[in-house]
Amino acid sequence: MSDQTITAAYYRGDKKFSVELRTAPEPGADEVTIRIAYCGICGTDMHVYHGNMDARVGFDRVIGHEMSGTVEAIGANVGTVRPGQKVVVRPLDPCGECPACKAGHEHICHKLKFLGLDTDGAMQELWTVPAHTLHVLPDDLRMDHAALIEPVAVACHDVRLSGLQPGEDVVVIGGGPIGVLVAMVARDAGGNVLISEVNPNRLAIAEALGFDTVNPVESDLQAVVEARTGGKGADVVFEVSGTQPGVDAMTAAAATRARIVMVAIHAQKPNIDLFQFFWRELKLIGARVYEPEDYEKAIALIAEGGIDADTVITDVSPLAEIQTAFEALDRSPIAMKSLIKVGENA
Ligand SMILES: [Zn+2]
Ligand SMILES: [Zn+2]
Repeated sequence: MSDQTITAAYYRGDKKFSVELRTAPEPGADEVTIRIAYCGICGTDMHVYHGNMDARVGFDRVIGHEMSGTVEAIGANVGTVRPGQKVVVRPLDPCGECPACKAGHEHICHKLKFLGLDTDGAMQELWTVPAHTLHVLPDDLRMDHAALIEPVAVACHDVRLSGLQPGEDVVVIGGGPIGVLVAMVARDAGGNVLISEVNPNRLAIAEALGFDTVNPVESDLQAVVEARTGGKGADVVFEVSGTQPGVDAMTAAAATRARIVMVAIHAQKPNIDLFQFFWRELKLIGARVYEPEDYEKAIALIAEGGIDADTVITDVSPLAEIQTAFEALDRSPIAMKSLIKVGENA
């Protein structure tokens, strides 16, 4: 592969993207160049769009990490993939030397680089990444569905860390894109799942996906959970709302010795009812991104239809229309996951 001219979407600040031509770099010895098929718009990408991450991302950055694609070229040392294979990227580049890395927790490296924020990302036709970030996909996996693997891997990590057992009662607080994916993975693992959400449009989507729901503005969540569980409460609670009422609900809904998983990134330090942790011997579990096994689980779940990808993907736009795609997603009360179709032949 000699240098190729490709189309790339740059974040330029102030809610603006510019779609430009650039020269695609050849892969270094330990790198792989991927021809991108689809790239989903993450909540993090919306934070970039809103200017909340300008100091970290800058104004000359190609963002995007929820991608699917095909290996285009490999570096001299790469033996794990070959051109033509369908792949996704686990967009984490750990330092390999800090205490977290040395303990085997590279996904929470002290100096973790996130590809597509700290480096250029997948909103471009060719993306060059370290070979260690790749996972190979089954040949027959749909590439639009494969763009959900990264957020599904987040959900797989959350559910795995919860220790959820079949038959346990689960409450997911917050029914946005990650909330419904957590709910789907928890249901696939055998949990009896209730989604708590205040937005009527999101409640309707959760119900269309077959979930029991509660609107905590209209009903008392604790009473609803107690009625469902014979007064016991939920064995596992996922806090995905990132709100103070959500944090209040997470302890109110919890059974004795329940596990509460903190999935949301809270903008402010919330008040937590620590008294309930003593009284009911609750456990609070932090969960951040994913490990390789969560990616493999996400790939298997999507391949076998454990995720209703067609309901979750609510919009697909070509790369040339990335600006309007972000504007539409920002405005839409009903959108869940918007994909950018990056490749012509995706
Ligand atoms: Zn993401
Ligand atoms: Zn490290």
